[in-house]
Amino acid sequence: MYELVFDKDLCLHCSTQACLTRCQYIEIDKETARKEILKIARGEDSFVLHDCATCYACEEYCTSGNHPFYLIAEKQESLGIPPVPRPLIQRAVNIGVPFRGRPEINEVNGPVLNMGAFSEYMPLIQGRLFEGLAVISTDERKMFHYFCQLMYLHYGRSSLIKERLPGIIETIAKHRPTEVVCFHDECYGAYTSYCEAYGIDVPFKPVHFYEYLYNRLLELKDMIRPVGLKVAYQRPCSSRLSPDKHVFVRRIFDLIGAESVKREFVDGNALCCAGAIEGQRREGSRKRAAEQQKRNIEDMKKAGAEICVFNCPACFQTLGGMVAGNGIKPIHMSDLCRLAINETPAGWR
Ligand code: SF4
Ligand code: SF4
Repeated sequence: MYELVFDKDLCLHCSTQACLTRCQYIEIDKETARKEILKIARGEDSFVLHDCATCYACEEYCTSGNHPFYLIAEKQESLGIPPVPRPLIQRAVNIGVPFRGRPEINEVNGPVLNMGAFSEYMPLIQGRLFEGLAVISTDERKMFHYFCQLMYLHYGRSSLIKERLPGIIETIAKHRPTEVVCFHDECYGAYTSYCEAYGIDVPFKPVHFYEYLYNRLLELKDMIRPVGLKVAYQRPCSSRLSPDKHVFVRRIFDLIGAESVKREFVDGNALCCAGAIEGQRREGSRKRAAEQQKRNIEDMKKAGAEICVFNCPACFQTLGGMVAGNGIKPIHMSDLCRLAINETPAGWR
């Protein structure tokens, strides 16, 4: 079985305790943070295990590579403190079962785009940006063969990820890809951060979707016309697992002439969409989620954003309607990039 290596000594000598002191959902001072993270590491109960919003951000805040959120998710499971009600966990567990039937394996021997569990978003994969790129997981009936399973971190079910992920990696590897471009950055986080933390072998090169888009835009540079829009970016929780790739958001905006508005909740300080909080077991979760969403959208409005750019389909589903209701147009990053090369995405005015 794959085990997380968590170094308690690093926490003992850590000067910041940033994993918890920077948390946007838990008020905690440095000394308490040190005590609580050490309690969690020893397998003891802590209020952090009950109050965690599962926003993944502490994975980024810990710059020592100690994986505090993976630890939290592990202990929520072993101590029986699930973040969401058990019937919801059971339903989610049944939804994501991979390996029902067999996927058709076509050997690609080149780069592939993996849609993961988002095959319904295939209509986004159009135009010059994706020309010549093979795509896997395009079939809704078979998409769970390619679903990275990291979603179960929100449910406190690490054991399920460890059980299923190696087989999914094996399925992808059978396509013989030279590179796997991950449509969702949760998949990218799974094949890089999570697999590294648990010692799971990944026999292909994962590529972040934004890195792919940026490099493709560079190839199409002559076609780019500045979009001239004021944009806010909705950073997804899963992007906290690959903070080194977050830089591509700014690079893409600069390249396509999108003006990133000055916000409080941006980059390291970003607020998640709060979709995971809505369904949590903790008392007052719906109110907690609604307050975060309001703060987030008010911040976009105050900064003068005209459009809100999304990466994660789940964030789009949670916040898209709300931002639109506040006069800010929601758009997927790839559609914004298509606009810049004079293509008109569906639904764009
Ligand atoms: S998990 Fe990281 S940030 Fe948190 S106390 Fe330990 S070393 Fe410091
Ligand atoms: S996952 Fe988010 S809410 Fe939970 S402890 Fe880490 S930073 Fe705080």
